[in-house]
Amino acid sequence: MKKYNFNAGPSMLPREVIEATAAACLDFDGCGLSLMEISHRAKNFQPVLDEAVALIKELLNVPEGYSVLFLSGGASTEFCRVPYNFLKKKAAYLNTGTWSKKALQEAKMFGETVEVASSADANFNYIPKDFVVPVDADYFHITTNNTIYGTEIRREWDSPVPMVGDMSSDIFSRPVDVSKYDCIYAGAQKNLSMAGVNIVIVKDEALEKVGRPIPTMMNYMTHVKGGSMYNTPPVVPIYCAMQNLRWIKAHGGVEAMDKLAHQRADILYAEIDRNKLFRGTAAVEDRSLMNICFVMTDEYKDLEAEFLSYATERGMVGIKGHRSVGGFRASCYNAQTIEAVEALVQCMKDFEATH
Ligand SMILES: *Cc1c(COP(=O)(O)O)cnc(C)c1O
Repeated sequence: MKKYNFNAGPSMLPREVIEATAAACLDFDGCGLSLMEISHRAKNFQPVLDEAVALIKELLNVPEGYSVLFLSGGASTEFCRVPYNFLKKKAAYLNTGTWSKKALQEAKMFGETVEVASSADANFNYIPKDFVVPVDADYFHITTNNTIYGTEIRREWDSPVPMVGDMSSDIFSRPVDVSKYDCIYAGAQKNLSMAGVNIVIVKDEALEKVGRPIPTMMNYMTHVKGGSMYNTPPVVPIYCAMQNLRWIKAHGGVEAMDKLAHQRADILYAEIDRNKLFRGTAAVEDRSLMNICFVMTDEYKDLEAEFLSYATERGMVGIKGHRSVGGFRASCYNAQTIEAVEALVQCMKDFEATH
């Protein structure tokens, strides 16, 4: 049976990206050796890293004066690197869920923090709108897509201070005005590559301003100077990212990804709103295009387990919601197909017909 992959992360990648990566793991670049068993400094690997960096700059229209880095430790390590490198006295954070909260937690170790607003009062089902960012903050941190709660900030905000964005689960799904950010970071395993690498886009002139000693590996400047090769980088995830960046470019770039994201989400949200058994959990105006969260209406609450097994029997994978929200979550990253979304919608319709 055909499987439709709605996993939240690690998540679906284009088949050809997986095949190209698998081929390189067997024989990299026709050299007779695996990508896993050559030096990262081999002369045929450097072009992979260079192409990946160039594609990121091209796809996101990264202005001059920014560096693109491939680092390790997941987005969770950037929660710590960000304040280490940018927090002089005070940093502002918008609390829109689990990941924002964890980012803020790390910043507290480095100076004063201001939580400008939080949607914890409603289990993070919306994006706070009325708040003030202190003008004396070193930066304002946002999580553009809340993977767990299915809310998203899918527009450019004005901030009186430079922004820092955790874009782990929506990077490359839409155009971004990088010039508003001192730093953008993302773990790769949602929308870019396999797990094992994070991409970081930093404004060079914002670095080395904090005046505190920074351990070598935590210092972004180390990696800017070292071209992401200060230590051994995760070559297979970087190779996979490069292949996926090529795929995104070949499919029309981030503008096309944005259009597709809207198409997929419109189809699925329309069914959630129409079907008497289901309701969406996120505030309509803040609905994520990436992680579509829904539950069964109160009247049909006891059918949740039944729908999960019904959908699973029809090939749906990974639609069980995160325990913090319950119900269902269909993750629709760049590689997700309209066909899969339509299959899920059909499944919801058929289930409704039997009740
Ligand atoms: C998954 C996720 C993280 C954590 O990423 P790791 O790479 O596992 O550390 C952080 N932020 C967001 C928005 C995420 O979706």
